[in-house]
Amino acid sequence: MQSQLHIPRGIRFQCTACGHCCHEYPVPLTDDDVRRLEEADGEACRTSVSALTAGERAQSGLAAFTRSLDKHQSGNCSFLTEDKKCRVHDTAKPSMCRLFPYTFLHCPDGLKVGLSFASTGVLFNSGERLSEQHPQLIEMRDVFNAMYPNLARTNLERWGESEFVGGSALDYEDFSKFCRPYLTRLEALIESYAASGKQSPPRDNAQVILSEMADVLCDSLPPSMLNPMVKLFGKLNPVKLDQYILMPLYRAYFASPPPVDEEQIGIAVQTYLQNEDRDLYFIVADRKISFADLAATVIESLTAQEQDLINRFVYMRLFTRLFFGPGFSMMPLLSGLFHLSVLVMLLHLDLKIDAIRQSAAGESDALSQTRFDKLVARVRDIDRRLTAVVYSRDAGSMFELFALDPLRLRRFLLMTN
Ligand code: SF4
Repeated sequence: MQSQLHIPRGIRFQCTACGHCCHEYPVPLTDDDVRRLEEADGEACRTSVSALTAGERAQSGLAAFTRSLDKHQSGNCSFLTEDKKCRVHDTAKPSMCRLFPYTFLHCPDGLKVGLSFASTGVLFNSGERLSEQHPQLIEMRDVFNAMYPNLARTNLERWGESEFVGGSALDYEDFSKFCRPYLTRLEALIESYAASGKQSPPRDNAQVILSEMADVLCDSLPPSMLNPMVKLFGKLNPVKLDQYILMPLYRAYFASPPPVDEEQIGIAVQTYLQNEDRDLYFIVADRKISFADLAATVIESLTAQEQDLINRFVYMRLFTRLFFGPGFSMMPLLSGLFHLSVLVMLLHLDLKIDAIRQSAAGESDALSQTRFDKLVARVRDIDRRLTAVVYSRDAGSMFELFALDPLRLRRFLLMTN
């Protein structure tokens, strides 16, 4: 029996043929994909396909895949034409390419349909609504199930192990009821922007909604449930600790190349314990930007278009449940919610850092990318890294720090706005 499909509202997708997803990243291949590519173009296949090691297969959870379609030095796939079309689209397109950017998550109440914000079509909300793409979704669901035949069983078993905070079980039904009104608010915001191009009502947005969700959950949380290690860190200077949290997360999502260590936040807080007085800087294009620079800078509020992008990104994560539990390093719910809030703040922080860098370099907006284009690129970065970042149990629990200090999210908001 197939699970019931849950489709997000107001969310659209159509391929824009930008060629972005056919650039840079290797594509995992099944044996069947390789056979079809060989039939379509044996020469290109021989020069572009390499074997995945057992370690790579285990590490990336890609047990069904045996090979990888590697990109040229230019970054392009061998099958990408000059006009940015896939040469094997109708004959031998690999399963992973066919599936992209659709995502699915098996939950106890059905299969949640989502989209990756690494896709340009998704970032710009192009094309038809997903609710009008039912035959396509059924086809993608079947591709997904063929690629991950055991995932439904594994995920459904793992939902039973989901936690509210580390060590405390989560009731999935209660969680779903809790989420529904917030999802409805986000759907209204997304529809309102699509209809009028304006934000309505003006003071409601994804950041406000995430804070309210966190407040409600924290109010229901007896302090005795928090991770004892986290309680210890809660005794440290809160403002300095804020900096030691933001800095590694900024690096984890935006540094190029990305750091390899998933324990970024845990390591940063440990470092703070050992060396409390160190000054921290963001280093961007060889310029040091301090927290004092950030405090002294105010940037223009987000435009309706920028806010809509963030609203859709947060909505998609909340809707698909891809911010905690199975599919997300089994991070506890409360930590996952704080983590998502911080990701949104990192987007604001990056706009601020960029404004400081731009003013120091004497660049004008007319000469550089628009701020919306930069935000689009950063949401793409975050979405791509979210699928690669693996939080250990301890690193995931570190986000419980936010529950200890109700002002931390507000301080982050002030620092990043
Ligand atoms: S096989 Fe086609 S869709 Fe996949 S990366 Fe190459 S060009 Fe893009």
